Amino acid sequence: MQIYWTKINKIIQETPEIRTYLLERPEDFTWVEGSHTHFALEGFNAGDKPNRSLIRHMSISTLPHENAIGITTRIREQCSEFKAILRNLGVGDEVAIFKTHSNVPLNREDKNVYLLSSGVGLATFRPLVLDYLERPDHINQIHSLNIDSSKNFLFTDIFKSAPDKKFTAQFADNRKDYYEEVKKLAADKDGLFYIVGSDEFLLQNIEVLRERGIKPEQMMLDKHEQQLPNFLSFE
Ligand SMILES: Cc1cc2nc3c(=O)[nH]c(=O)nc-3n(C[C@H](O)[C@H](O)[C@H](O)COP(=O)(O)OP(=O)(O)OC[C@H]3O[C@@H](n4cnc5c(N)ncnc54)[C@H](O)[C@@H]3O)c2cc1C
Repeated sequence: MQIYWTKINKIIQETPEIRTYLLERPEDFTWVEGSHTHFALEGFNAGDKPNRSLIRHMSISTLPHENAIGITTRIREQCSEFKAILRNLGVGDEVAIFKTHSNVPLNREDKNVYLLSSGVGLATFRPLVLDYLERPDHINQIHSLNIDSSKNFLFTDIFKSAPDKKFTAQFADNRKDYYEEVKKLAADKDGLFYIVGSDEFLLQNIEVLRERGIKPEQMMLDKHEQQLPNFLSFE
């Protein structure tokens, strides 16, 4: 396994609680849209065993041609040791990334694509949307629906509706409105539904979609193949 140590080049305060860390891109480091990586802080591999409290899974919120590895995360006042250390890192500090993989690449199957996310889950979808806007081949249209009760919505420069590009972006600030919209979207019995958020969020969305006849193979989750049956076995 290759561990890439790299520097923080820039920190963007996206909303009061959410930051994007733009990391220097090592020359031989590449990834595809929808990828997540292991993001680790200094000292994580100092002992015999990796120190898990210094490692987190994080999606990469950029595309390689942006020439930066974007990590977007929420840091609340009450936070884990990991986030407390991260909060105090600055430009020039080193972090590690390793084991990068995409469970949710953009499937180009001439279908309508629905991106359902909660909060910072939108970070996983940013590269999918950028990829689509740059090259819409074999995708009918994309519709993004994000819920964030803080009302501080993310990436509104990219997530804004563009009818000429067949892209729609919707934000909800409460569950009632959000699930009303999901129910409407589920009227498309042939769509592809990507879902990113907490396990509870995934299960609730899956239930709403399933009740409306959407099949497991139409649902894309940011989970390893072995974990999918825990979410998508309907028996
Ligand atoms: C494939 C994958 C991709 C992911 N991508 C991302 C991503 O792009 N961005 C992202 O942010 N996360 C992502 N995650 C989730 C990420 O790995 C972390 O689990 C998540 O960010 C929570 O981090 P944390 O455990 O450091 O806790 P925190 O975010 O610090 O805390 C989680 C909750 O616990 C509370 N809490 C924590 N510590 C304390 C304390 N000491 N006292 C009181 N309350 C406390 C916090 O208030 C918060 O509500 C991803 C996970 C997976 C599996």
